[in-house]
Amino acid sequence: MRDQAALPENAVEAKGLDKVYRASGKTGEKHALKAIDLAIPRGGIFGLLGPNGAGKSTFINILAGLVNKTGGSAAIWGYDIDRQTRQARASIGVVPQELNIDPFFTPFELLELQAGLYGVPPKERQTMDILERLGLADKSDAYARTLSGGMRRRLMVAKAMVHNPPVLVLDEPTAGVDIELRQQLWSQVRELNESGVTIVLTTHYLEEAEELCDEIAIIHHGEVIACDPTQTLLRRLDNKTLTITFAEPFDAIPADFTAFQPEKVGEQALRFQYRASDSPLPKILAAATQARLTPVDVSTLETDLEDIFLQLTRGAHEREAS
Ligand code: ADP
Ligand code: MG
Repeated sequence: MRDQAALPENAVEAKGLDKVYRASGKTGEKHALKAIDLAIPRGGIFGLLGPNGAGKSTFINILAGLVNKTGGSAAIWGYDIDRQTRQARASIGVVPQELNIDPFFTPFELLELQAGLYGVPPKERQTMDILERLGLADKSDAYARTLSGGMRRRLMVAKAMVHNPPVLVLDEPTAGVDIELRQQLWSQVRELNESGVTIVLTTHYLEEAEELCDEIAIIHHGEVIACDPTQTLLRRLDNKTLTITFAEPFDAIPADFTAFQPEKVGEQALRFQYRASDSPLPKILAAATQARLTPVDVSTLETDLEDIFLQLTRGAHEREAS
């Protein structure tokens, strides 16, 4: 690896990255990435969040050299993927979404094979060290088919690490993985990051991105619609909707609620929109007491990913219009 002074500011940088999948027998033409600009800072855990079909894997696969871009440019660890292909490839490890492990090799053999593919000379291989880091040292000689699902996932990560890349990309690492395994994987990812590896992961789970990532980019229909430090993004998405139904019908919104600017729904309910972090519920209930209204039902609306995309895209259009 290069000396400290030469470390790039961004682990990954994409400029105007574009991908159109050509029409084939079965599918029409698909504009999967629409000239996206994205800078992934060095050293953190970066989340690429978006629903299925958003273009996450396309982005990752272009970086990995598995998909050819249609336009734009990308650099990994400062190396342009077209002009400095070899260095760019050497700087990234990719863990694909599907578990594809040959069941008849042991973890030790699989890692040695992979190191061979990457041209790592035998003397420089760190096979046992990598197995150790991923908690697989005691399974180094077990047949892969005898490994649990969690171990297989970790083995995939180990495989992506054989050439000691400074950037590790995980494509939907926990899709279809149970809660316990998910937690385990998260802590492993955190450890790798603490040891200095820049992590990029894609996910369609907001909680996953929220839990793990320092910074999140949201990708939707091939466009980056938000890219912010996690806390900033969450603050923007912090809207909650609360509907309170009262025992007593009323004609106008009682003045006691003015501060909360609710909306009247039907004869005896009010809908409040607020920032969850403001937690105004106790004050709203106090205002109800003031107004001599008895709450009989309270319901909240969780913001789901689809709402978030709507919210963010609406924001973008409003900004464009103004
Ligand atoms: P994600 O990983 O976010 O689910 P993908 O990058 O896999 O999204 O896909 C983005 C879009 O491109 C989708 O509409 C998908 O159907 C399309 N797509 C992906 N791969 C191909 C391909 N090889 N040929 C044609 N269309 C594709
Ligand atoms: Mg995908």
